[in-house]
Amino acid sequence: MSTTVAAQQPAEPAETLSVPADARAERAARARVAAARLAAEGVAGVMLSWVDNAGLTRVKTVPVRRLEHTAAWGVGAAPCFDVFLVDDSITTSRHIGGPAGDLRLIPDLGRLTRLAAQPGWAWAPADRYAQDGTAHPGCQRQFAQRMVAAAGLRGLEVRAGIEVEWVVALAGPPEQPPVYPTHGPAYGMHRVVDMSDYLRDLLQALDEQQLTVLQVHPEYAPGQFEVSVAAESPVGAADTTVLVRQTIRAVGLRHGLRTSFAPAVEPDAVGNGGHLHLSLWRGERNLGQGGSGPYGLTGEAESFLAGVLAELPALLALGAPSPASYLRLVPQRWAGAYQCWGLENREAALRLIPGPPGEGVGSANAELKCFDAAANPYLLIGAALAAGLAGIDARRVLPVEVPGDPAALSEGEVPRLPGSLLEVIAEYRASGVLREALGDPLYEAVLAVRQGEHELFADSTPEQLAAAARWRY
Ligand code: GLU
Ligand code: MG
Repeated sequence: MSTTVAAQQPAEPAETLSVPADARAERAARARVAAARLAAEGVAGVMLSWVDNAGLTRVKTVPVRRLEHTAAWGVGAAPCFDVFLVDDSITTSRHIGGPAGDLRLIPDLGRLTRLAAQPGWAWAPADRYAQDGTAHPGCQRQFAQRMVAAAGLRGLEVRAGIEVEWVVALAGPPEQPPVYPTHGPAYGMHRVVDMSDYLRDLLQALDEQQLTVLQVHPEYAPGQFEVSVAAESPVGAADTTVLVRQTIRAVGLRHGLRTSFAPAVEPDAVGNGGHLHLSLWRGERNLGQGGSGPYGLTGEAESFLAGVLAELPALLALGAPSPASYLRLVPQRWAGAYQCWGLENREAALRLIPGPPGEGVGSANAELKCFDAAANPYLLIGAALAAGLAGIDARRVLPVEVPGDPAALSEGEVPRLPGSLLEVIAEYRASGVLREALGDPLYEAVLAVRQGEHELFADSTPEQLAAAARWRY
């Protein structure tokens, strides 16, 4: 089902850390030029997005004329967004929560994009700062930047890509069961014929926004599709997934369709994955090729992947963050429900993809299949990097490969990943690697949100849980 996200050779330098306050004038000057261009193109408003700890993309918007001031000084946002739950109720945590305080959203002008499917609108991802210009410790995007910098200190770069799966339904009342716009078979050409104009408009919109689409295809579940995009820098990949999803939703609305990225649209069907592809680089060298480890992995790449694999039960707190994630993460749905690895094995949480012989240096990568589209991509990518780097430090090696379906082996032979958010919360609590990487304020805010959502849905049936999550992501 899944497609390879080919890693490209690293081109740009790794992201820099937080922007000092004296960079305000420079940001304002860049924004002035960009705003004039956007206004001439008919743009009225700019959306500034960040993704909260529940995995929902939140937004503030400014008129295009205000972009220059916004780039310099930011736009206000409450810190309590860090403890919002999926249903918009608000919990609290030791360091973050309560109605007081103000943060500044500063747009990353490098990603400022005119939105092809929302005429008159542009978008940029935002970093969150305190009013004095220091980084907000709960800023998920800057957390990912810090992990990129930690890799950079060792001379390492990571290329990443997230596959986006989604389900479309006719835009009726959200409380009604979904009615799918196509009844074509899984992967069927029939579905592409039924949805021909929609998919064409989607491809055009993604292309106009300078996104490098590798492929779009109908997926397995009713009304389900997938798009994969080229690998890029880790923070770039997280930004891209926000933009891809925004675009899919907007194109869908123009075709009378409602879009769901929820982990489980139906309680008993194949769900929406958010598989994360990673490759590790040193300069021009893809460390997943030409080494003496399994299938050509170098020692560093093997240790990196072994570190991620070992940390998976805790990483699920970031990569499969909803109680609904565990409706999806079950065996024999290609969701990667077992904590193991295997060459091109779609039932292993870690699928090793060496790339076809001769395709070139970029193609080797690893796919982490257990993650879903409820994940905050910045948290997930940053945490995966932290786990991989910890694996390098500990010189971990991969366990024995699992080549076939782990469910076909006797029970207990291959460890199952946790089957509920409650178990994952216990793993996350026990993870020194994640606590240290995230820092206490962010680590605890995430924990509070996970606990809050566990309690929110503790008495829900699978049907109620799927329905509650269906149109939130
Ligand atoms: N939809 C499956 C999931 O829940 C993945 C299918 C695939 O391998 O692409 O992850
Ligand atoms: Mg897929």
